[in-house]
Amino acid sequence: MIDLLNEHKSRQNHRYVVGLADGARVESVVYRGDTLCVSSQVGCAVACPFCASGARGFGRNLELPELIGQLDAALDRGHPIARVTLSGVGEPLHNFDHARTFLEHCRARRIKASLTTSGGPLSRLAEALTWHHNGLTLSVHAGTEPTRARLVPNAPSLDGLFGVLTEVVPTLSASKRKKTALAYLLMAGDNDSDAEVDAFAARARALGLTVHLYAYNPVPSSDRKPIARARYDALWARLTARGLRVRMSSTARIEQNGGCGTLVALRTDARAAAAP
Ligand code: SF4
Repeated sequence: MIDLLNEHKSRQNHRYVVGLADGARVESVVYRGDTLCVSSQVGCAVACPFCASGARGFGRNLELPELIGQLDAALDRGHPIARVTLSGVGEPLHNFDHARTFLEHCRARRIKASLTTSGGPLSRLAEALTWHHNGLTLSVHAGTEPTRARLVPNAPSLDGLFGVLTEVVPTLSASKRKKTALAYLLMAGDNDSDAEVDAFAARARALGLTVHLYAYNPVPSSDRKPIARARYDALWARLTARGLRVRMSSTARIEQNGGCGTLVALRTDARAAAAP
């Protein structure tokens, strides 16, 4: 069903090109030896301008055996996978049924499974927040609507997102709330102004969720720019001072090889389709 075609090793990451039966390709990455990042689609319809995964548009959803196959292939290569995250190429909520079944499959195998989503459609987000998962991270990346629309174009508005979160988060168990997080990927000149970050803090504070503050990994398909380390540290301090619990990027997530937003997909023209 799938074939691991190429591999690239770096200090902490082991990145694979995954060949699919129809000729399409996605990527998966083993972080720190035991955590596998799995792709859910060939390409992505959300079209975030900073991301390599959606740079060629949307091709198709991965079938369930193609999701499970990425896990089995990593195990076959000798990686002792203990955690899986649906955070590779694609928007998992656009492949909703397979994403949910895959998380259940991992749970049945006692492998902790998490996901990252841009949040749409909102009805699916509301349901996914209640799934059994080991972490749901919502990619926000903005404090104002124009920035959100520019950086995460084909996804719900901030008002829509925070509306669902305000409704659902208080109904979750304390343990599930702890595993639900907001992500803010900092890009120089895009979303790193004090005003933008303060607007995000004002929306996020009442929810009490952890914030993952990511540093941008430049990719050849985008002209977005990473921010300087000093500015990253200053914005971490700024958000923290506004009462948020903020975690910095792990070093594995900011490696050029396999870091956030760097995975690519090649689709076969025959299977290319309209966005869901
Ligand atoms: S960042 Fe995520 S949602 Fe945005 S285009 Fe890339 S894979 Fe899709």
